[in-house]
Amino acid sequence: MGAGPDGPLDPFALAVVFGARIEYLPVDVDPSDFSGMVTMRGGRPVIVLNRSMAPERRTITLLEELCHLHYRHPVEEWDGQGRQHTNAVESEAYQTGAAALLPAVVVAKAVYKNRAAADVAREYGVSTELFEMRVKVLGLWRHYQGRNAA
Ligand SMILES: [Zn+2]
Repeated sequence: MGAGPDGPLDPFALAVVFGARIEYLPVDVDPSDFSGMVTMRGGRPVIVLNRSMAPERRTITLLEELCHLHYRHPVEEWDGQGRQHTNAVESEAYQTGAAALLPAVVVAKAVYKNRAAADVAREYGVSTELFEMRVKVLGLWRHYQGRNAA
């Protein structure tokens, strides 16, 4: 699935494990209006993504949708209408997706080895913002801020 236990995860390979089909919106939509959703079609999960998103945002969006499947959050047959999950469910899927992309050991090593956030983010296919969110979630923010990244 990636390059060793702390290597980057390939979310498209993970989607295959879930038996999920990936599709893109056929029209250009502002990524602030729509990033992605998961639905069922003929009993099979289909993940719809917005092609206009930056690649690193596409990665976390795909992971989040896969986490909805992993947690068996309610995913319904497509009826032409997108449905919002509750905030708690969204947060569970998003945080799990972020942790799958940037495991605690990767974030902790990067912080303690003074690696530049942008380098780690690029290596793992995520945004610098997502890296920093993980630093905060893991309680390493104070240390991260006090260091001089190489
Ligand atoms: Zn979601």
